Amino acid sequence: MSDAYAQLLAATIQHLEVLKSRGVRHVPVRPETLAALAGTPVKPAARPAPLSFAAPPAPAPAPRPVAAPRPVPPPTPAPPPAPAPVAPAPVVPPPPSVVVRAPVAIPAAGDRAAAFAELRQRALACVQCPNLVASRRQVVFGVGNEAAELMFVGEAPGVEEDAQGEPFVGPAGQMLTKMIGAMGLSRAQVYIGNVLKCRPDTPGQKFGNRPPTPEEMATCVPFLQAQIDLIRPRVLVALGASAMAGLLGHPVKITGVRGRWLDYRGIPLMPTFHPSYVLRQQEAAGGLAVKRQVWEDLLAAMAKLGLPISDKQRNYFLKA
Ligand code: SF4
Repeated sequence: MSDAYAQLLAATIQHLEVLKSRGVRHVPVRPETLAALAGTPVKPAARPAPLSFAAPPAPAPAPRPVAAPRPVPPPTPAPPPAPAPVAPAPVVPPPPSVVVRAPVAIPAAGDRAAAFAELRQRALACVQCPNLVASRRQVVFGVGNEAAELMFVGEAPGVEEDAQGEPFVGPAGQMLTKMIGAMGLSRAQVYIGNVLKCRPDTPGQKFGNRPPTPEEMATCVPFLQAQIDLIRPRVLVALGASAMAGLLGHPVKITGVRGRWLDYRGIPLMPTFHPSYVLRQQEAAGGLAVKRQVWEDLLAAMAKLGLPISDKQRNYFLKA
């Protein structure tokens, strides 16, 4: 570069700086001038290109680096389909003959007496059924030999039992007592208990009894079960449908099971009619047949216990 050219260029730059400081943004320049500055020939027809002080156009943005494709996580395996809700198995009451439980060790006499006393105290203080507690005169726990080989189970105390505090003391109880005597036994030799220990209330009624409800029996039956566990009789006799329902926990048609040996917690169980039913049938046609049916059930219990059975006993209630 010659000195003259350098001076010309420096002067031009200085001049442009002055213009720029005055706010001038564009300066028209003739093509020849540009060509002279650049040292290249310029076509005369070309329009003068403006010199711009504007910021040079921004360079084209560099292409954004292409991000490496994100690793695509493998598709989450779909959770295994939830198992279809299993409909609860219908509650099928076990057949009456399948109430089995491992036999309980028979407690020693002293232990049994103490356990029985404790159980009795708990029953006497029981207030689980407020309506029955409000109406009962006393809790009817049970009566008889705590080591009996034969145990009778009824449904609930009636008005006489509630008054006396002992099961089966009314007319039906007297019938039962006679039958026990016909077996050659006494009440003191057997044990008599009910599924329900308190008399079912009869609101608005001064007389009469009512059968216990399933709920009442379910609430109270643990006391009876504990009695059975402590006594461990060799034979149980259930008196009537309510007693059976209370023992088994579901309704039972007594005519369907009467006279058939069943099993209750490992103990032979003979269902028969309730003595009050025998009493009601006594005057009706066929009353003797009902009494005979009950007697045959008791004969079967005697045979199971190995009790002697005389011919006279065998023939009870066959004819009037
Ligand atoms: S009926 Fe049985 S469970 Fe109910 S209050 Fe009497 S003893 Fe308790």
